[in-house]
Amino acid sequence: MNTRTSNLGYPRIGANREWKKALEAYWAGRIGEEQLRAEMERSQLSNLRKQQEAGIDLIPVGDFTYYDHMLDTAVMFGIVPQRYRYDGGPAGLDLYFAMARGNSRAAACEMTKWFNTNYHYIVPEIGDIQPVLTENKPLAAYRFAKSQAGIDGKPVVIGLYTFLKLSKGFALSEIRSVAERFLPVYVQLLQELEREGVAWVQIDEPAVVTGLREEDIRLLSDIYGALHSAVPGVSIMLQTYFESAEPLEALLKLPVQGVGLDFVHDGGANLEAIERLGWPEDKTLGAGVIDGRGIWRCDPEDKLALAQRLAALVPEGKLILQPSSSLLHVPVTVRSEERLKPEVRNALAFADEKLAELTLLKRALLEGREAAGTQWTGAKAALDAFRKLPERSRADVAGLERGLADLPDHRSPGYTERAKRQQDKWRLPLLPTTTIGSFPQTPEVRQARLKWRKGELSQERYDEFIRRQIADSIAFQEEIGLDVLVHGEFERTDMVEFFGEKLDGFLFTKNGWVQSYGSRCVKPPVIYADVAFTEPMTVKESVYAQSLTKLPVKGMLTGPVTILNWSFVRDDLSRERVAYQIALALRQEVLALESTGVEMIQVDEPAVREGLPLKEKDRTHYLDWAVRAFRISTNLVRDTTQIHTHMCYCEFSDMIDAISDMDADVISIETSRSHGELIASFEEMRYDKGLGLGVYDIHSPRVPSVEEMETGINRALRVLHPEQFWINPDCGLKTRGWSETEASLRNMVAAAEDARKKA
Ligand code: GLN
Ligand code: ZN
Repeated sequence: MNTRTSNLGYPRIGANREWKKALEAYWAGRIGEEQLRAEMERSQLSNLRKQQEAGIDLIPVGDFTYYDHMLDTAVMFGIVPQRYRYDGGPAGLDLYFAMARGNSRAAACEMTKWFNTNYHYIVPEIGDIQPVLTENKPLAAYRFAKSQAGIDGKPVVIGLYTFLKLSKGFALSEIRSVAERFLPVYVQLLQELEREGVAWVQIDEPAVVTGLREEDIRLLSDIYGALHSAVPGVSIMLQTYFESAEPLEALLKLPVQGVGLDFVHDGGANLEAIERLGWPEDKTLGAGVIDGRGIWRCDPEDKLALAQRLAALVPEGKLILQPSSSLLHVPVTVRSEERLKPEVRNALAFADEKLAELTLLKRALLEGREAAGTQWTGAKAALDAFRKLPERSRADVAGLERGLADLPDHRSPGYTERAKRQQDKWRLPLLPTTTIGSFPQTPEVRQARLKWRKGELSQERYDEFIRRQIADSIAFQEEIGLDVLVHGEFERTDMVEFFGEKLDGFLFTKNGWVQSYGSRCVKPPVIYADVAFTEPMTVKESVYAQSLTKLPVKGMLTGPVTILNWSFVRDDLSRERVAYQIALALRQEVLALESTGVEMIQVDEPAVREGLPLKEKDRTHYLDWAVRAFRISTNLVRDTTQIHTHMCYCEFSDMIDAISDMDADVISIETSRSHGELIASFEEMRYDKGLGLGVYDIHSPRVPSVEEMETGINRALRVLHPEQFWINPDCGLKTRGWSETEASLRNMVAAAEDARKKA
């Protein structure tokens, strides 16, 4: 039997984020272009060597980038918007980074989420630009790998279908003619690879998994038909990931030599389809058996069974074992995580460990598990030890989960009745003003926290420092004239980490960074065990803040779905169950706040939309449990306790029912950049609860005028009742400085006062 291993993409950032540091040094002017290029080549080469040393047969080339692979593709094809005054030829570094980050003359290109991951890509703006192949990046990467490391690499290219689906600047109804414009440059790119003697090219078409209609299938077969007849000499691996590829029969009819499928995140549909349809004699299966985006070690026995099943379905020599997706979405290596306890550390597999898993799996498949030796038995033992950890199956958490079924599903009484009682209690003015939670995290605040973490500042002194910040912020808010106050979140680094550190079931890696966009990396918390409440997390600060003022102060928590979606999550329980565990823990925090007199509580859920499944048909189920998790955390409070929530900017039009079902008394939403579309959607669905539509953008230091904010308020008031409308900025103010925060909030209060007189 001849089975190979392949990889789909490797993290760029480097084991110690060397890549990120080099980029930032260049942007800051600390190193020049030559040095940046040298650093980048070093990173690229070290990534290649690691894959080579891991024994991977087909190593991807061209997945490496200076910023983002979508941006690379756009620039390679000369897709540069006019505002950058580009005049053809290979784009220089300045232009490339200007598109990513903006410059003094032109705004950056839009950035958006890469499918259902936390990676963000730069959105190509195609317009009527005629594409040209300005430079063949995959070819350059192929030559680099060959000359520097003797690797006969597998160039990775974003497929035309996916590239267009993710771009903007044309109507979707014109996609066929836009595709025709691009076909010659794709042909040229592949022909150059063919001439170079490249055997396999991986063409990424993840957009396929979001669902194919008749016209999509026709477009795909036109694209791949054209590529095949023009470039018969290279083998194309049409690569899908993140979900099942449906209908698979349509993909299997395409004239490509291989199809890559995800067997981890497909809900079992890919295997089921292959068993039903049979696998075509002439095609190679790229079998995504190792989880490319989760961080857990695989169960070797399960994977071997899967590989054997696939091997039996596919002709001899036509099976390639690979990760389910690019490893871009996981950290580089577990090696530096020596602080974690061994049972946990040994259960983790980041990029390098996943490559080792692939090689081991191939060995076991070809030669039997005995040949895989102690590595095999070691993997099984490590997994066993991890599974047996008592904190992963806690009786108390199981008890709470069993009680879920009997918990009230909604608050009672319903909103209308509650709203009356709340108005009696709170006596808020019409159009109340508030903020979203955080105030500026100044260098002073960050330094104090750092010193405290290092032990240079005692707990007592640090607490005192935080109290002073809170007291100043309360005085500030009273002086400005806000109606509902916040404590300011000075004690928090980050809205998920803060809670993860205080709840049971989380762990924090030392070096578990993943790229979020450009040089920006995040280190998500890891939910490895049952989540449980241990002690109040926010009560101290909230109670102190409330003690300083007669005005209401909102308690401030991060919601269950956001905590879930911004963490790496254990894979032995459903996400739904983990969300409920978090919700049950937060529920105790909510009750703790209420019992100490904090009776307005905001539970932020900015990341609900991020968890939306890629396939339309799965969305209702997700939204049902996500909304229920939010309600479980909040629905036990007294009717006079006012529950707030907050969401950042996103497409809401298809989610307003779900938002309404969350049953929060007040929701604040980022809107200042949505030009009124959002207001229209809320009007359409006759949203009846409290609604704070952000009246100014907090992403820039610009101070909007009173008139500007009044215009926004008036526009909203044309369709919404003044009784339901709240006035607040778009989001938290932690990234802002105090001077613009003060000026903007003063203008906001003035705008609210004017609007009140007219309402
Ligand atoms: N309460 C948080 C803050 O103000 C909300 C942040 C967010 O939605 N991303 O910082
Ligand atoms: Zn926000």
